[in-house]
Amino acid sequence: MNFEQGPIRPPSEADSLFVRVTRNCPWNKCLFCHVYKGKKFSRRTIEEIKDDILAMEKGASRVESYALKLDSSGRINREVLEYIYHREPDLLQIAFWLYRGGKNVFLQDGDNLVMPADQLAEVLYFIKEQFPTVERITTYTRARTAGRRSIAELKMLKEAGLTRVHVGLETGCNPLLDYMRKGITAEEHIEAGIKIKEAGLSLSEYVILGLGGRKMWKEHALETAKVLSKIDPNFIRLRTLAIREDVPLLEKVQAGEFHPSNDDEIVMEEKLLLENLSGTGYLVSDHILNLLEDVEGNLVQDIPNMLGVIDSYLRLPAEERANFCLGRRLGIYRYIRDMQDTERYEQVKKLKKLLHESGQDQNEFLIQYRGNFI
Ligand code: SF4
Repeated sequence: MNFEQGPIRPPSEADSLFVRVTRNCPWNKCLFCHVYKGKKFSRRTIEEIKDDILAMEKGASRVESYALKLDSSGRINREVLEYIYHREPDLLQIAFWLYRGGKNVFLQDGDNLVMPADQLAEVLYFIKEQFPTVERITTYTRARTAGRRSIAELKMLKEAGLTRVHVGLETGCNPLLDYMRKGITAEEHIEAGIKIKEAGLSLSEYVILGLGGRKMWKEHALETAKVLSKIDPNFIRLRTLAIREDVPLLEKVQAGEFHPSNDDEIVMEEKLLLENLSGTGYLVSDHILNLLEDVEGNLVQDIPNMLGVIDSYLRLPAEERANFCLGRRLGIYRYIRDMQDTERYEQVKKLKKLLHESGQDQNEFLIQYRGNFI
């Protein structure tokens, strides 16, 4: 299909149609981020974006005509997907989107509120005009950029169809924001977050567990809890630090300046964060990098349950914790209870033994291995 696609989307946008509004990230300096490194930021013209949306609309019409051919009800089902897979595989992305309801659109790439608000609003109206079934349109933005938009501009975007913005808070700790070259302060994060909510937009804030490393884990957890409690976003989405070979943070690790936390230390940090967090939003651990995927719930009533999940991990004997961490990272377990499956437990035990015999320290291995997940 003749339209551009950016490299990433949040896990919660897996069922969305992706419309690329800008290319890459205008900041591109965060030490832990690999996504757009070496790539130049550029804005796409309204015409380019509209051409993409029209190409997608044409694709959707073709999918619908195939569906009608196969079944007079025109329902897009598995049979239609299979037919398209063999006939016109380029249409699969759009076919899957329609199959999943055709309701959500995600605007790519890293910071779309850099676009003048009236132009972005024009894009949003155009999406809704071409795809009247769309109910939710979301985008990534830097909090600094959102903070520069007036409430009137943010409300204009909401009116045009923008539903939610995804913001990388990462940490609420100022020295850490500075160290990681995030280019924003905790106070600016709070101001932007409150403004976004005031405009009626839904707000997702992302936090990176482990970002403080061994030196700053406590400040990271406490200050992040403080900032999040002030913003009170609709969603808090946890991620875990993974240091890939292509991120600038690796040099700090190799220089002995940054010491990554191991899984036990990260879970302690997560506990401290939750113990100090308040709000009305929903917290999710919706990323494969998170050790405890079932730490999830509403901040009003579920914090004790979430702490219960954390404690059930921390109460395990050291050997069991090590077994779980290895099994989880290797994709053998998903939840702690999966260790009760004797076959899987024994499989992990064998792998753990092999790792030990190879002379590798398990914690070091898992810290490195985390980098393979993103
Ligand atoms: S602002 Fe976001 S996308 Fe840009 S470098 Fe930082 S983390 Fe990466």
